[in-house]
Amino acid sequence: MTALFLYKNEINMKKFLLFFLVFIYTVFPQAKPYVILVSIDAFRWDYINRGITPALSQIKEEGVSAISLQSAFPTKTFPNHLSIITGMYTENHGIISNDFINLFTGERYKLGDTVSTREYKWYLGEAFWETAKRSGIKTACYFWPASEVLLEQKHPDYYKKYDKKTTDNDRVDGVIEWLKLPYKDRPHFITLYFDIVDTRSHEYGPDAKETNESIKGIDSVIARLKNSLSQTGLKDSVNLIILSDHGMTGIDKNRSINVEQIINDPACKIINTGPVALLHPAANNIKAVYEKMKKNENHYKVYYKEEVPESYHYSKHPFIPEIVAIADLGWEFIDNRIAERQKTGGGKLGNHGFDNHQLDMHGFFVAGGPLFKKHYATGTLLNIDIYPLLCRIFNIQPRSNIDGKAERIEFILNNN
Ligand SMILES: [Zn+2]
Repeated sequence: MTALFLYKNEINMKKFLLFFLVFIYTVFPQAKPYVILVSIDAFRWDYINRGITPALSQIKEEGVSAISLQSAFPTKTFPNHLSIITGMYTENHGIISNDFINLFTGERYKLGDTVSTREYKWYLGEAFWETAKRSGIKTACYFWPASEVLLEQKHPDYYKKYDKKTTDNDRVDGVIEWLKLPYKDRPHFITLYFDIVDTRSHEYGPDAKETNESIKGIDSVIARLKNSLSQTGLKDSVNLIILSDHGMTGIDKNRSINVEQIINDPACKIINTGPVALLHPAANNIKAVYEKMKKNENHYKVYYKEEVPESYHYSKHPFIPEIVAIADLGWEFIDNRIAERQKTGGGKLGNHGFDNHQLDMHGFFVAGGPLFKKHYATGTLLNIDIYPLLCRIFNIQPRSNIDGKAERIEFILNNN
């Protein structure tokens, strides 16, 4: 009798506890974290070691820092912002270059051409803001490639149309305005993007004083962001992830390879020049073009699409053309038009897009806030692992078809 009474009491107690927990979660929903994901375009892995970035160095010192953040191939801006935000290699998310064509229809995707970059059909991956939105998390982008896609479910709740002329301070202030919205409207995941270091280092090279000036300038913008966060009262709740899409290396016009001269075939489309030449010959001429490139293989490597080494993850997508040539670090493919221009102008002194295993092409990564370990330095991280990291932070399910892996990166979070 006594035993039965105790048993019934235990069941009642369990029921009560269950009811109590449901009540607590309903009345006080679990607090959602805040994350601001900042991208400083072309901020090479080692710029933070130059002793000119007090704000970034403080985040590095107090929170998590990686030796570098390895980009996906090719080490270009749009492909890598998409790899960061989808967790996929470029061959899988579909943005295989800043500028490429649909080989079957001739339609072109091009950075700067907002008609093409706002069309959802090019994007095969799911951006983190889509995953988050589906889970009821409000999202916002103060610039990020693909954030302006016109299809409602493919863009964040709030976004700004890219305008290079928007000052960096205005970008920071815009993010702060979002954080001041009433709780029900306030985004918990926000991106922020700065282009100035990329612009200056293309123009003057990675070691120029003008590049260092732009690095110092961005550091003071980061300091402003930290100060403004303090004023919102959210400073202790906000997690900051600051990273870059790729690095930068010195180039000069004496290290040019005129691919148009080498192939000497007007029927072959040269889709990209620069660090990577993408060649689309006429169907009956693929072998001939490949053999000419192979015969002249000096300061570059040429591959049939299906033979591009596995480590580049650059074979699968149908818009990668039949022949891919990758220049040695610091060398560049040009065509006759660029060769003509080089005769008169000085040319640019920095570029990226090369082999993503080259350290010069690596970006940087620092993070701070309540969810990150303190005073924690680690080795190189992969940028395809940022998307699953974000899913882990917000406790939501990542897409199953991604290349990134939470297991490779989650150790930078507390309680891991
Ligand atoms: Zn660039």
